Parts: sequence; C-alpha cells; structure tokens
Amino acid sequence: MSSQESVPPLLLPRALYWQMVQHARAENPREACGLIAGQGGRPVRIFPARNIDRQPVVRYQMHPQDIIAFDRELEAHGWQWLGIYHSHSFSEAYPSPTDIANAVSALSPGLLYLILSLQAENEEQRLATVRLGGQPVITLAQRQLIPPVLRAFTINDGTVQEVPVVLVDE
Ligand SMILES: [Zn+2]
Repeated sequence: MSSQESVPPLLLPRALYWQMVQHARAENPREACGLIAGQGGRPVRIFPARNIDRQPVVRYQMHPQDIIAFDRELEAHGWQWLGIYHSHSFSEAYPSPTDIANAVSALSPGLLYLILSLQAENEEQRLATVRLGGQPVITLAQRQLIPPVLRAFTINDGTVQEVPVVLVDE
C-alpha cells in the first residue's frame, strides 16, 4: 500500500484507550505491553501482558503464557487477533528500530501496532521535580490533564504505515 492511499481509520472504543493508558501509567517507566482482540475489524478487548524483557524500560517482550491465554480467549469468543499495544515512556509514539525489526507482520500482514507515549507527562514531571528541588509536585490528577499520545501502525517488511485512530464512545 502506498502512503498516498487513504487508510481506513481504526475505530477504538474510548474505554479501551483508557485501559491502555492506565496500564502504561501503572508500568511506567517500564514499557507496558498487551494484545488486542477484535471482531469484524473492530477492537473489542485488550489483554495486558507481562513484559519479561531484560531491558523493560526501552523494550518489551510478552510473557509466553500471556500469549497462550490470549489465544484461548480468541478461540473461546470467536475473536480475531487485531493487534499489539505497548508504551513508550521516553520517546514518541512511533515504532522504534527494534519495534520494526521485531514486527511479526509476515505472519499476519494486517496486524496493528498501537503505541502509547507517556513522553509528555514524564517530561513534565521531570521538569517540575528539577524546578522544585527534587520534590515531585505534579499530582496524578494534574498528570491526567496531559492526554497520552496513541498512534497505530502496520509494519510490513520494514515499511511503517500509519493508521489513523478515532476514539469512539460505545
Ligand atoms: Zn516500542
């Protein structure tokens, strides 16, 4: 697919977006990761996975048991494997060279890679800490005013194609 072609948006239920945000904030600064089940091309459920990578702040590797459990859920409910999500704590919501190299899209070409960036709120907290002599002053409520950036991509043979994300209320 050329980048000139328009890509149909991913219609993401707002509740799933917030579940991913909560998961990412709970793991911060480690990368959160998980799997996305879909039905008819629409995401229906997310399944957080344990990040067992030895460098969890900059990479992720899902626990094999969590992938197996996810597979059983897909089968039990007749869902499809729609995508993978993970967070970036200190970089933008764009696939890293590692993300591109590890993409498994050869097996499932339409697989979506959702990336949630906590860069803005982590940076804001760091600056506030510096300004005030080491005391973190940003409360969780204030941090939630900064919406984390979520973007979606397909990655095929090293080619990254963005898929627009539209949050929907269901
Ligand atoms: Zn990444």
